[in-house]
Amino acid sequence: MSFAQFNFSSQITTNISNCGYEHPTPIQEKAIPKVLSGSDLLGLAQTGTGKTAAFALPIIQRLSNGPRGKVRALVVAPTRELAEQINQSFLDLSEGTGLRTVTVYGGVGKGNQLQQFKRGVEVIVACPGRLLDHLNSHDLNLNKVDILVLDEADQMFDMGFFPDIRRILKYLPKHRQTLLFSATMPADIRKLADETLTNPEEVRINLEQPLNLISQVLHPVTKPQKTALLLHLLKETTDGSTLVFTRTKYGAKNLAKKLISTGYKATDLQGNMSQNQRQRALTGFRDGDFTVLVATDIAARGIDVSLVGQVINFDLPSTAEAYTHRIGRTGRAKRSGRAVSFVCHDDQPMIKAIERLQGKSIERLTITGFAMDKEADQLETPRPHTPRRSTKKKMPASSRSGQQTRSGSKEKSTKPKHRTGGNIFGLGREKK
Ligand code: AMP
Repeated sequence: MSFAQFNFSSQITTNISNCGYEHPTPIQEKAIPKVLSGSDLLGLAQTGTGKTAAFALPIIQRLSNGPRGKVRALVVAPTRELAEQINQSFLDLSEGTGLRTVTVYGGVGKGNQLQQFKRGVEVIVACPGRLLDHLNSHDLNLNKVDILVLDEADQMFDMGFFPDIRRILKYLPKHRQTLLFSATMPADIRKLADETLTNPEEVRINLEQPLNLISQVLHPVTKPQKTALLLHLLKETTDGSTLVFTRTKYGAKNLAKKLISTGYKATDLQGNMSQNQRQRALTGFRDGDFTVLVATDIAARGIDVSLVGQVINFDLPSTAEAYTHRIGRTGRAKRSGRAVSFVCHDDQPMIKAIERLQGKSIERLTITGFAMDKEADQLETPRPHTPRRSTKKKMPASSRSGQQTRSGSKEKSTKPKHRTGGNIFGLGREKK
């Protein structure tokens, strides 16, 4: 299948090939015709699937021929990093069309945003808080918006943005096209979809699809040995950059410091940093100035760094879905990647939940010297369909530190079970 089937203008077609896109991704194949036809859309897809271009391209095509100087498309996204990424896609894909886009988020001065509103923009990519701020101050008029995109709705819910979104909706025309994207569809997201979408077309991209490209492994480890194990693994890493996830902001900052003192080009990315610091960290990581980025979930979700060779879960996330998002930072856009998780014995329930969601077990790899027997034993591969046996199969012990011992088969178990309600990502607040 090729992009030619969508009959984009020649300028947009040129921009697509300048971005290096040869064929539409599955979500683009399914979503673009529906968005071009003017339908509302409910898209179940995560980042890494080409979701941004799936809405940006038809929006640019639709806006290319209309009036200028009025805000005609509004994209609402949960984080500043994601807003910047979406904006960059709009800039790249709309080059030469004369369309103007601006990002709107807090943590930076309002002056530049106000200036751009005055000059006139057709597309706004915004985080809810600052956008509402501008709307309340009458800085901005959204009554000519034709297309609204609510991106990563599940994360916006998790971050407590839904009341703001409902307020923002009051400033928009009732007759408009609305596109809502979410990686999962718990009850609260379904409710927002029911409130905002009219006869939506539904496009669903298998949650597991991008994960097929990612090799996953669990390393049993004792808590005090985690940093030593990380250093051991980094020493062996020769290809691409490494994204390390910690549970807390303090943990991210502290670990990055330790890595820097050991000689690594590392930086942290967490919610205590100013927007400028966050942007510097992200850009430096993207450009290869830093080879290791230590981040918390809030700061890192949705970021697109195409050459992340491996994701290391220094601490496991608090939900199985968050694990999926984390490891989705590698293996993006058809590249292969590696996801490594450090697992202590009290992480066992989370590992079970992750394996249940994926419908398969993940390989255990014990690196001797880093896990006591307890961790290795606790991480024995589960047998999802058979009753639990009382005698555990012991993992073979090996004698030299740093030696690897594999366990765990790739057997299939039940279909993934998705949660259907609540605060699904457990990402609501970063821990200090
Ligand atoms: P997204 O899911 O929108 O964050 O996109 C993930 C990555 O895929 C980004 O780096 C995009 O530039 C890239 N991408 C989007 N569409 C295509 C395509 N059709 N072919 C190749 N790469 C793409």
